[in-house]
Amino acid sequence: MKSFIKWILNHIPRPLLQRVASWAVPMLGILYAGRGRKCPICGKQVREFLPYGYGVSRRDALCPRCLALERHRLLWLYLERETDLLKSYPTLLHIAPEVALKRQFERHYGKEHADNYLTADLESPLAKLHFDIQDIPLEDESVDVVVCNHILEHIEDDRKALRELYRILRPGGWGVVLVPQEYDRETTFEDDTITSPDERAKVFGQYDHRRIYGRDYAERVRECGFEVEEIEYEKRLSEEEKKQYSTAGERLYIVQRPLAVSY
Ligand SMILES: [Zn+2]
Repeated sequence: MKSFIKWILNHIPRPLLQRVASWAVPMLGILYAGRGRKCPICGKQVREFLPYGYGVSRRDALCPRCLALERHRLLWLYLERETDLLKSYPTLLHIAPEVALKRQFERHYGKEHADNYLTADLESPLAKLHFDIQDIPLEDESVDVVVCNHILEHIEDDRKALRELYRILRPGGWGVVLVPQEYDRETTFEDDTITSPDERAKVFGQYDHRRIYGRDYAERVRECGFEVEEIEYEKRLSEEEKKQYSTAGERLYIVQRPLAVSY
């Protein structure tokens, strides 16, 4: 099963995969019936999550109901337990929205507060707004919270994108800006001369990645004006929770635009 899913991921174009995933994955989920795992996002219980991953397939990764991966589940637990995002209705800009999170945010905001939940993507029809994150067509200080995960590694000028996120956030506003990262790498590796998808896959690990972030990622975000909290959130979960939710050790980066200093 694991190698079958890996084959699918590596041979079927992504747009097609996304289209069939909504019905095909839940069907595969039937094979994983059981109660050993529970998705904290959608509440689905399974024996084990489905395997998932490009190149190297990971066991216990994909929720067959809402398609959440380990990192989505970890982030959800953080948002639910440590923030008031799901207890209020701030203006939220969700960039390249992950289906699992988007569904829950939409449920939370409901019809009444729907205008406060903004989704954006370069072109996906699932998003309300369409723009390049390096040039966001929103007013200065018009957003309370930003969620922008696994985007920056695709962006030509990631600092420009970060400065745009800073500009549109109100002072005191905050966000989650996650990237894939290699923790044993001290400095971020990038090379603009590598442009072909094949070369990028070989060097950066995915055909559309432009860099590999190292431990200096937080510093790069700070350079763009943000205060950054780097949280190893999985360490705050119990052993039982880690297993039940099958989370990941990915670090959470919580950014905040500082309140204006008054003299
Ligand atoms: Zn789920």
